[in-house]
Amino acid sequence: MEKNSALNPTSIAPCGMNCAICLGFLREKNKCEGCTSNSDNKPTYCKTCIIKNCEFIKESNSGFCYECSKYPCKRLKQLDKRYRTNYAMSMIENLNFIKTSGLNAFLVNESVRWKCTTCGGYICVHRGYCLTCKS
Ligand SMILES: [Zn+2]
Repeated sequence: MEKNSALNPTSIAPCGMNCAICLGFLREKNKCEGCTSNSDNKPTYCKTCIIKNCEFIKESNSGFCYECSKYPCKRLKQLDKRYRTNYAMSMIENLNFIKTSGLNAFLVNESVRWKCTTCGGYICVHRGYCLTCKS
């Protein structure tokens, strides 16, 4: 299998966001290396993210919100609603899938779901098209 960023487990944030399809990750300038990296190129929104900085996440084994006794908490539900409304994507759906089917199965599904059929790159969830070939 071809090596690609979407199949990198570290590109999945605690909230279930796949960073590999994020504008910050796909853009050329000030490229973010994803939620779980210590990259300084993260958008302020991500640096100050309440979920990423949540104390329960630091103590969890999986590193994902589904493990938490408060799952899905108010913060996660707000984020999930925003993404379902604006980007046709659900963090909670992602997390439930990872919880029941495992991270590998999720990564495989994601690489198919967001793959650009023209160039094989990734569809940006925020823009709704492939940033590589603009289709
Ligand atoms: Zn493309």
